[in-house]
Amino acid sequence: MFSDSLSRRRFLHSGLLSPVVGQTLLGGSKVIGSEAVGSGVVGSEVNLSEHGIEVLLPRNRVPLSFIIDDSTCLVNMGHFCTPQFAEAWPDRGEYQKPWQQWPREIPDAFVREFGEWCALKGVRGKYSIVPNPACVGWMDRELPGWSRKELRESLRLVRELMLPNWDIHPEMITHTRVIDLKTGRPLKEIHAGTMENSYPQEKKSVDELAAYLAYALRILKQCDLPCEGVTTPGGFGNQVKSELSLAADQAVRDVYQVDLPHYFKYVHTGDQSTEPIIENFRNEGTSSPQMIVNVPAGTGDWFGGWQGDRLSEPDLYANQDATSGRMVELIQRREPAVMLCHWPGMYSNGTKEGFISFQRVVESIERRFGTETLWMKVSEIARYWASKAACIFSVSAGKLVIDCPMQTPMFTIRIQDQKGPVRCHALGAKGDQSVQVLREVSQVKQLESGCWMQEGDDLLLCIDLNASKIELRFDS
Ligand SMILES: [Zn+2]
Repeated sequence: MFSDSLSRRRFLHSGLLSPVVGQTLLGGSKVIGSEAVGSGVVGSEVNLSEHGIEVLLPRNRVPLSFIIDDSTCLVNMGHFCTPQFAEAWPDRGEYQKPWQQWPREIPDAFVREFGEWCALKGVRGKYSIVPNPACVGWMDRELPGWSRKELRESLRLVRELMLPNWDIHPEMITHTRVIDLKTGRPLKEIHAGTMENSYPQEKKSVDELAAYLAYALRILKQCDLPCEGVTTPGGFGNQVKSELSLAADQAVRDVYQVDLPHYFKYVHTGDQSTEPIIENFRNEGTSSPQMIVNVPAGTGDWFGGWQGDRLSEPDLYANQDATSGRMVELIQRREPAVMLCHWPGMYSNGTKEGFISFQRVVESIERRFGTETLWMKVSEIARYWASKAACIFSVSAGKLVIDCPMQTPMFTIRIQDQKGPVRCHALGAKGDQSVQVLREVSQVKQLESGCWMQEGDDLLLCIDLNASKIELRFDS
């Protein structure tokens, strides 16, 4: 119907995608040269909105995620880190607590209980495995205090139970003492400058930092744990923030050959946006863009803390009926609501008080916002925002073309003044093609991959960007 260029030109002036005169959605003087598919490139969001296109949240839902720091296999980091921190910072009261009375182990039975409950509820997030936790032992070799068999079974539990729903990150090498990469031993002196939490205290090159991160990643690789990102312990890298971003980018790519690294370091508070930040974006506009994604958390740790000895304050995340709390605030702002905790604070030195409080928070959010939110891994959130940054939109008669150098599921867009139905043509890099007629749904909460819906004059659609080019056609 819109095959001749005259028709195309006509639609340029009367509304590019819509055959209904008067519905000017992608039209306007900014869209030029629409005779050829792929012209009229809309490169930035500013332009996108000028053309009535808006990239929405995945499935139009607010991403939720749970970042767990200071976890590893078996070793209770609260028990083992505290005396090492006390030596480096003798004046700090929180390191003088009775760590000897806390259990040395967070047992696999608790990992299983936690992981199974989260899987049942669909909770997803990030779970650290510190490779040489507090210098106690090496995840890929030997963990003094536990048998080789216990260590291997603990790693297997992480692979089988946690991996499907959780990103695995190293949290540097020890989370306590800085390791000399040449000898594999902790540095001799003990002070703030030789603790990972406050390392480095002077400028370090990207290569030096990348070598340190890669050392940690390689240990997890030897444990058959895949990683797409890293977590920094405490203030690691505070003096070298831009070098750290580049180093994480390099190290994760070097060790794991992933196409999209990410990292967790920052907590965003107050009015600050919690959207992921694209860093070191290069090869923009090509078929192989590269970047690293900085995914911030949006809450403090208000469960049992890194020593597991605090009483939780679950209402700070969400109160019983989810009418107040930081998670509620972020959900209502429609920004990623990424909550933070430390693993000893879930176990609470055996009482599980933190875990019980966490369950209450998850259930409160689910009751009020279950159909408006979506649990995602940190890597999935990173990928969605990376795709949004890397995709190139073009418009021509009756269709919207999306070049997708960075692919992601559940990509969701709004097109103003557009009617369905929608056909989705996926064009693979090797010339393979597939066509899908999207399914119409009547409510936003039903929106999932492969669906579209009419919302007033606008069309909402959700597709997997799983080909190098996607053509959305509205002319049938
Ligand atoms: Zn930590």
